[in-house]
Amino acid sequence: MEKNKYKLIADYHTHTIYSRNGHGKGTIRENVEEAINKGLEEIYITDHGPGHIFFGLKRKKLPEIRRTIDTLNEEYSGKIKIFLGVEANVVDYNGKYDIEEEDLKYFDIVNLGYHSGVFLRNFKSIFIYHILNRLGRFSKKIESYCIEKNTDAIVKIIEENNINIITHPGDKVKVDIKRLAKVCKENNTLMEINNHHPHLSVDEIKEAMPSGVDFSLGSDAHRPEKVGLVDKAIKRVEESGLAITRIKNLREVK
Ligand SMILES: [Zn+2]
Ligand SMILES: [Zn+2]
Repeated sequence: MEKNKYKLIADYHTHTIYSRNGHGKGTIRENVEEAINKGLEEIYITDHGPGHIFFGLKRKKLPEIRRTIDTLNEEYSGKIKIFLGVEANVVDYNGKYDIEEEDLKYFDIVNLGYHSGVFLRNFKSIFIYHILNRLGRFSKKIESYCIEKNTDAIVKIIEENNINIITHPGDKVKVDIKRLAKVCKENNTLMEINNHHPHLSVDEIKEAMPSGVDFSLGSDAHRPEKVGLVDKAIKRVEESGLAITRIKNLREVK
């Protein structure tokens, strides 16, 4: 990658200390200051949704997080725009996520991804996620059943809610990238090329491309110094041949 060939406008995916138990290392202010240092125009604070047993944000902290971001927006006015989002979790295979209606007023965006360590709400969901997905490595038949179910759940959440970005599609469990891309396109949802995880991979980007879906890059920073870093994601973009104009937060420097 040539230096300064691209400019990242916004980081749509960063974690802070509100991702509990030491999962996120930096404060909101530290992430924001790093984003300014890296020349970003926007930063999104997107901690893990409350359904994550170990790392999920505490619902009762939402007013405090919102106030902090509002105050920092005043302090850094003209330098950067700060948004509050969340990285919500799939919590069952009937297509439910871990965001309640009354939480939505706090968020500027809602991202969604599969994560292990989530409190799945019924036995069937626990069985498919934790048991069948593992067995799928040994049986094509089980694998394709799992891909269908993993995709069904995420598709239903996209169709019934306002989801801005699917984070690291294909990470944790396999999904039908073609079908997901089509649904994302129809619902104006971006597919993320994640810098911290290897998904979307080059092959997955190629699979998603014909649908006409748009993409985003996310650092998925869990410590401030990683905010705005998307070098590995850009490498995958270049290898896949994806047009830069289809990535919402990246510009080509002429
Ligand atoms: Zn994630
Ligand atoms: Zn994340």
